[in-house]
Amino acid sequence: MTQRIVLAGGAGFLGSHWADLLLERGDEVVVVDNFCTGREQNIAHLLDHPRFTVLRHDVTDPISIDGHVDAVLDLASPASPTDFATMPLEILQVGSVGTRNLLDLAVAKQARFFLASTSEVYGDPLVHPQPESYLGNVSSIGPRSCYDEAKRFSEAITMAYHRVHGLEVRIVRIFNTYGTRMRPDDGRVVTNFVWQALRGEPITLYGTGEQTRSFCYVSDEVRGLLAVLDGPLTGPVNVGNPGEFTMRELAEQVVELSGSSSPIIIAPMPPEREGDPLQRQPDITLISGQLGWEPTVPLREGLRLMIAEATALTGR
Ligand code: NAD
Ligand code: UDP
Repeated sequence: MTQRIVLAGGAGFLGSHWADLLLERGDEVVVVDNFCTGREQNIAHLLDHPRFTVLRHDVTDPISIDGHVDAVLDLASPASPTDFATMPLEILQVGSVGTRNLLDLAVAKQARFFLASTSEVYGDPLVHPQPESYLGNVSSIGPRSCYDEAKRFSEAITMAYHRVHGLEVRIVRIFNTYGTRMRPDDGRVVTNFVWQALRGEPITLYGTGEQTRSFCYVSDEVRGLLAVLDGPLTGPVNVGNPGEFTMRELAEQVVELSGSSSPIIIAPMPPEREGDPLQRQPDITLISGQLGWEPTVPLREGLRLMIAEATALTGR
């Protein structure tokens, strides 16, 4: 049955891919976005779609939407560590007031509420891989705290609305996701490495380069988000790819796949990345066992897709 879905943050990287998937299966999508890190080009191909509309609005201001709504998806938040330095107050505001406004909308519409939380709620984890039951190792005052604590608050207020108002909610914890439509200057590692490789610039390994991350390709990720939205689990539910790599291994793969002559260098850890987690890997037993979701795109294949997009953008 067609659903009418409000997608906050739908002009961003993940949101725009999820909008594609929802429209493909016949849903109606209303994007609400203030474009602070989102881009018109991410949704330009959808503007003429009969079941797609976009509302330019800051979700930290109260939101009203005409008509029936089946689900409210909260993906609105800057998410790159470089944003933590430039927009800490906006991140805290959107993770608190913004999420609350979207929860109020869901209550008013008797709609299901979906929160995009993050593996950052585990902080610099002392348990590896991270199951949903791990409570985390998070600094409440470091430069990452604006994001980590905002997301922890947004999880807490989502559960409070669930308990107080009986609101049906879903919480996912998204692990590092990469793919087409990421902003070339977003500062995240895969975009940095791909663009450095294509420009022939040094590939910057921060710190030792031995820290690990587990990268999920965006098409897999949004399938996982949809499985949680449609499924019975309140959550939190980890959604990510358990394939774990050091940043050095990632750099070597990007150089090889792009045919770049860029050197791989050690660079100082930028101050906004103080507390950079040493390791991160999702335990996906819950989502794979309960919802049958598994990622399918290997890192090399996802990197090829990103390198192809970036190459096309450079006009080579
Ligand atoms: P993104 O920056 O591309 O998308 C975020 C979107 O939210 C943007 O379009 C931005 O303009 C919008 N937005 C921000 N503040 C807003 C506000 N006040 N009002 C309205 N719109 C606002 O980032 P993304 O990578 O697509 O992340 C989407 C969501 O997923 C975020 O909530 C993020 O925390 C979460 N997440 C992403 C990752 C990842 O690896 N990409 C990992 C963990 C969690
Ligand atoms: N990183 C790096 N070089 C870069 C950008 C990032 O070595 O040019 C490292 C960063 O220190 C971190 C990892 O890559 O250990 C992932 O960084 P990203 O910003 O993608 O995500 P997050 O830190 O939020 O997992």
